[in-house]
Amino acid sequence: MTQPAATADCSTALVDRFGRVVRSLRLSVTDRCNLRCVYCMPEGPIRWFPKSRILSFEELARLASILAGLGVRELRLTGGEPLLRRDLPTLAGMLAGIDGIEELAVTTNGLLLEDLAAPLVEAGVQRFNIHLDALTAGAFRAASRRDGLDRVLAGIAAVEQLGATPIKLNAVIVRGINEDAVLPLAELALRHNYHVRFIELMPLGGGEPFEVEKLVPGREIRARIESFHRLTPIGRERPSSPATVFRIDGGAGNIGFINPVTEPFCGDCDRIRLTADGKVRTCLFARAETDLAEPLRGGAPDGAIADLLRAAVAGKEAGGCLELQRFYDDRLPRKMWQIGG
Ligand code: SAM
Ligand code: SF4
Repeated sequence: MTQPAATADCSTALVDRFGRVVRSLRLSVTDRCNLRCVYCMPEGPIRWFPKSRILSFEELARLASILAGLGVRELRLTGGEPLLRRDLPTLAGMLAGIDGIEELAVTTNGLLLEDLAAPLVEAGVQRFNIHLDALTAGAFRAASRRDGLDRVLAGIAAVEQLGATPIKLNAVIVRGINEDAVLPLAELALRHNYHVRFIELMPLGGGEPFEVEKLVPGREIRARIESFHRLTPIGRERPSSPATVFRIDGGAGNIGFINPVTEPFCGDCDRIRLTADGKVRTCLFARAETDLAEPLRGGAPDGAIADLLRAAVAGKEAGGCLELQRFYDDRLPRKMWQIGG
């Protein structure tokens, strides 16, 4: 179980009923995206949040600052595709300057990264988690329903050149779509200091109902890699980190498995999420959410917002929400792109 951060004021820290302390915020800055990954978004027309509902930079920075005062130390900008948010480097600069924030990272599909990596790093972004599901144009298109592999690879190279390393590469393997990408993706960690992360497919997509047959368990992915390369466990990056990490023999980087479905890690979760329209969610699978947009826009003082945050965290479930859904439930009120992965 995660211990309170040394720097957090424990009288005000965000602690849930099970003693878990919130240190990390996934901040969604838009629900829009320039890909349509099969496991995340529907193919057809999507009703985006109206612009007026999306939190402004000032609102986002205010919430981040309140959260920093409550012990949050790590911010990860996400979406939808965060790089579609106009002037993202300006927001990054505002967030990086908040007292108490020690780490600012961006989770991106990489399509716009070649041009935006430098201004984002200049603004204070330290790390990038780049989504890469395939290394051939055909499999990339099958997974994301769009073209763009070359642009993603150019984005990764741009980040590498800037020295914003280690670069995390996130891959979701879907049976029948991009299973052949497992080995080539893993082997990227041979030549580069990339941290390749395989994330199990979760029932959070839009469009079609979740088909459990499409889930490739992390242990199966690992076995595929191990039939070619020796993997040596090196543990977790830190107790709250969802990935179990392995060194790949002769490799510059490492390989990790995030198995929320077959090996849930709720007991060590230190995260909360803020959606682009200002709702706090204590779990990807939570059904409840706490609206902060209305109080924020209605003139509520910081203390009142902090109370709402404390109450939301106090109500965080122990875990197992994913298991309870038993993979059949496609009626989730929000899908992945509307939450912020
Ligand atoms: N657009 C950015 C990206 O793709 O990295 C940020 C948002 S995306 C929702 C964040 C992460 O969630 C990505 O790594 C993506 O692969 C992952 N993701 C989305 N839907 C998922 C699902 N149903 N199961 C597992 N991971 C998923
Ligand atoms: Fe867009 Fe990221 Fe969802 Fe893919 S996973 S559709 S890139 S938000």
